[in-house]
Amino acid sequence: MIEKELDVVIIGSGAGGGAVASALGPLAAAGARIAVLEWGPKLREHEFTGQELEMARRLYFDRGGMLTRDLGMTLAFGRGYGGSTVVYTGTSLTVPPRVIVKWNVPGLDSEDVLRRSEKVLEQNNVHLLDEALLNDNNRLFRDGCRRLGWAVEQFPINVKGCQGAGLCNLGCPNAAKQGTNRVQLPAAERQGVKVVANCRVERVEERGCVATVVPSPLGEPSAWEPGEYRIRAKAVVVCAGAVNSPALLLRSKLPVALPALGLYFTAHPALILVAQHARAITNHQGHPKSFYCDQFARTDRFLLETCMYFPFTTAKSLAGFGAEHSKLMSGMDRLQMILVLALDDARPENRVTIGSRGEPVVDYSLSERVLDSLHEAMKASARIFFAAGAERVHAPAGQRFLIESSERDRLDELIPRSGVKPGKVPIAAAHLMGGCRMGSSLTDSVTDCWGQVHGLPWLYVADASLFPGCAEINPYVTIMALADRVAERVAASLEKN
Ligand SMILES: Cc1cc2nc3c(=O)[nH]c(=O)nc-3n(C[C@H](O)[C@H](O)[C@H](O)COP(=O)(O)OP(=O)(O)OC[C@H]3O[C@@H](n4cnc5c(N)ncnc54)[C@H](O)[C@@H]3O)c2cc1C
Ligand code: SF4
Repeated sequence: MIEKELDVVIIGSGAGGGAVASALGPLAAAGARIAVLEWGPKLREHEFTGQELEMARRLYFDRGGMLTRDLGMTLAFGRGYGGSTVVYTGTSLTVPPRVIVKWNVPGLDSEDVLRRSEKVLEQNNVHLLDEALLNDNNRLFRDGCRRLGWAVEQFPINVKGCQGAGLCNLGCPNAAKQGTNRVQLPAAERQGVKVVANCRVERVEERGCVATVVPSPLGEPSAWEPGEYRIRAKAVVVCAGAVNSPALLLRSKLPVALPALGLYFTAHPALILVAQHARAITNHQGHPKSFYCDQFARTDRFLLETCMYFPFTTAKSLAGFGAEHSKLMSGMDRLQMILVLALDDARPENRVTIGSRGEPVVDYSLSERVLDSLHEAMKASARIFFAAGAERVHAPAGQRFLIESSERDRLDELIPRSGVKPGKVPIAAAHLMGGCRMGSSLTDSVTDCWGQVHGLPWLYVADASLFPGCAEINPYVTIMALADRVAERVAASLEKN
């Protein structure tokens, strides 16, 4: 076992870990020994090939398809230098203050979160794309919503020199998307923070952790030699994401009981919906995600967003198979797509546990309320597709594979609620939240409002697992804002000691 002595160890390099590393950069420049331990590789530029299956293997945990225990939903999250920010789409929204109020964490106020969010927007070059760069898939969504009189907003996105390759979810091959791999981690490294790739943390121990560095055929060599490490540190900051942070802490056998650890996992359960136009539209060229509609966020509890996925992901998102499936897929250049996100409630039974080898296992049961939201969202999306001029719509819960535009007035009958069942409609999630939620009481939270784990003054959490409930928007900016808060507290604790 190789021994290492550090001041701060940060576990994970995604939205949370990257934000902590960059906020602690000045301390590293002043001599503090700070390292980020990242399970996945740091890919070289030429290894971003844009090939769907290859990049899914290289950049995602379980190739982007980790299943919940009951097989009802797949979970997509990244693994590598930059974590899920390497594969996110880069839409950059700040959390509505009402969500922070609803979270009801004593000591956490929306003004502080918004102030820190502004810092993230600035760092990441967040702006609205010019009208000329919007593709048909995005414009059709906007026009469809407007024809229906529904609120539609443009997403601010975090790109620099975007070439419209449409490959954001496979890792941008043009270095345009401003994830932590492009912004916060390189900035932290310039200040002396060490980022150790291919380094999996096995468990957290009193003021430290145990990790293994494994050689990888991909990416740059790790900053540390292959081997097993015992790392001692004054502060340990867990940023392994909403699935892996609770799992890591659960297998660590911490000296305090944390009854809420792993509980209250939320995911914005999502559907990918498609419609067919009579002619080819620009859908794969151009940034994939420019608009969203939150008209129904407070009533039917769902959001609609533009999206454009790749052949494998699209094919697995359609209900049915055989000739009709193959025919629809063979005309991908005519497809318009919408992503539906259900806004799920935090429930203790939805949770992360660990299996016999310490691996994460996620229990998530789709509530009737979530299924209602997905049902209403399916019908609302069909209305947008038809208002945008689509010839036919595929609704996974529909009575038949395709609904024709001549049937647009019969959506309530043709898309019955009874068709929205786990296992029948392909549900996926990429906004994973909770499991180490903030709060004040040990019984229903894991950390305080500064991310410090109850009863363990040297242990912090700084990632999406802190969320007490779902974000009701795309979450990365809020994760980074919260991580920035945690870093401030870590820095203050080092100064005290
Ligand atoms: C396809 C996709 C598209 C998305 N698009 C958007 C978007 O447009 N806008 C938005 O706001 N959000 C988006 N998201 C969500 C957003 O990317 C995530 O919410 C955010 O990155 C989560 O941050 P995190 O720090 O919690 O975890 P992550 O960013 O997932 O980082 C966790 C890191 O920890 C590492 N790790 C895990 N376990 C260990 C261990 N034991 N030892 C060492 N390292 C470990 C992982 O390898 C990973 O790199 C998207 C997500 C996906 C998957
Ligand atoms: S659309 Fe822009 S950000 Fe996305 S992969 Fe292409 S160049 Fe990169």
